[in-house]
Amino acid sequence: MPGGLARNTPDTVPFATGISCIMKSFIALFVLTLVGAAVAADRPNIVFIFSDDHAPHAIGAYNGWLKSVNPTPAIDRLASQGMVFENSFCTNSICGPSRAVIQTGKHSHKNGFMNNGNSFDWNQQTFPKLLQKAGYATAIYGKSHLKGKPQGYDHWAVLPGQGLYYNPDMLTPEGMVRIPGYCTDIVTDMAVDFLKTKRDKHKPFMLMVQHKAPHRNWMPAPRHYDLYADMTMPEPATLFDDYKDNAPPARHQEMEIDRHMHLNFDLFVDLTPDFPGDQIKGRFDKSAWHNMKRMTDEQLRAWRQTYGPRDKAFHEANLTGKDLVRWKYQRYVKNYLRCIRGVDESVATIMKTLEELGLDENTVVIYSSDQGFYVGDHGWYDKRWMYEESLKMPLIVKWPGVTRPGSRDTHLVQNLDYAQTFLDMAGAKQPADMQGRSLVPLLKGEKPNDWRDAIYYHYYEYPSVHMVPRHNGVRTDRYKLMHFYQFDEWEFYDLQKDPDELTNLYNDPASSKTIAMMKDKLEAMRKYYDDDSDLAEKPEEWQKKMRQ
Ligand code: CA
Repeated sequence: MPGGLARNTPDTVPFATGISCIMKSFIALFVLTLVGAAVAADRPNIVFIFSDDHAPHAIGAYNGWLKSVNPTPAIDRLASQGMVFENSFCTNSICGPSRAVIQTGKHSHKNGFMNNGNSFDWNQQTFPKLLQKAGYATAIYGKSHLKGKPQGYDHWAVLPGQGLYYNPDMLTPEGMVRIPGYCTDIVTDMAVDFLKTKRDKHKPFMLMVQHKAPHRNWMPAPRHYDLYADMTMPEPATLFDDYKDNAPPARHQEMEIDRHMHLNFDLFVDLTPDFPGDQIKGRFDKSAWHNMKRMTDEQLRAWRQTYGPRDKAFHEANLTGKDLVRWKYQRYVKNYLRCIRGVDESVATIMKTLEELGLDENTVVIYSSDQGFYVGDHGWYDKRWMYEESLKMPLIVKWPGVTRPGSRDTHLVQNLDYAQTFLDMAGAKQPADMQGRSLVPLLKGEKPNDWRDAIYYHYYEYPSVHMVPRHNGVRTDRYKLMHFYQFDEWEFYDLQKDPDELTNLYNDPASSKTIAMMKDKLEAMRKYYDDDSDLAEKPEEWQKKMRQ
């Protein structure tokens, strides 16, 4: 309820005359308690639960095509208690860069972490450091993906690099430690321990719970091996997209379930008793086996007991063509959603812990993920593109007494806005060099008439894994313009008429006026965000390949 915090003000407490001294003391204490509650409410605790590669359409509350399998009951419950941002986007659809944008409130070209090969400069200004200065207790557990030792946290334990699903190593202030168990559960336990015992109870806190799941390669917890086993999962409408009406980059990527998803590396096929992993040849296969090798004998036995018969049936079926794609898709989507179920249970545990500790009424709980993902959409897995499925980020916020339960917001928001939002929630100053905007007015249900009418995007990692060329672009509530500048290829979509972005209208004469308007907007936003990246075209031989 907007303005609901007013109920904590002491103005309405009646002071009667002629009451006993004890009663007066009691009332005084009561008033002090109310004043204290009001002060605390002005500085809410913040719990930021953040996963890796969780597409909004793999969350029930987003009403996508996977809703029917009920993938996220706890996250849906969080959504029913808070606000779902329906137009939430990243600035650069890849793991490390998204996290760097969140830390700094600045686009990649400003925070220096433009692709996963970069290292984050922890000495720069970040929102956790500013919250610490503002009197918050701070902690981060799980995947940082920014390399180096995190700064700005009273307590921390982070996975080195991508980290492992089973028995992961974690970097802590005391050095590297190996922790037995399943990664999502380990991170949840650390967060619960912070809430219960580690935090300074005299301060409001900001806790970041950052899961590795559901990042490739998808290894669920043992309790989820059989989840969805007897179901045939729905398929995306674009599973067999041939990209014939897109610009050439869409045809020259390497992220197709059909041609690029690896049976061993991505799906763990044959890493079973009949096919011991260390006998499999090839870089990808060995890498998959590396992940499994970290399992204990008991964990490995349980995996093989479940997946072994499924692999045997797969070999016996001898599938080819579309049937093989469909089988790979089913194995992939089930393991992906099993990993997500682990994250969902983490959300449930953290919400329950907040309730048990009496913290839930004054704690903002946020669920988000670093970008979207292709769950077979366009025949793909992975992210990187400015197309909708990987551009969108889930963003769900529960803020008791401020955000109306079950509300939905459609303003264009980005991970660029998170830092300023958290500072604003905490009543801390928002530095002028941050490039986003606080979402607090939206969370209060306000509709600012000067909100941004477009978002700016820039992806940098090419040539690299999955071969998605560099591109920048703008998206309004209806239109999207993308520029693959290394090859001077453009795409333009009317999302109202073509939500799946199947037909590039860049050369459509009827769209020329709108395209010109979008080009002006792209240039204006590039300048506004001071993006001076090199946008030069690349040599002839690259061009030739891309134009095929
Ligand atoms: Ca990611």
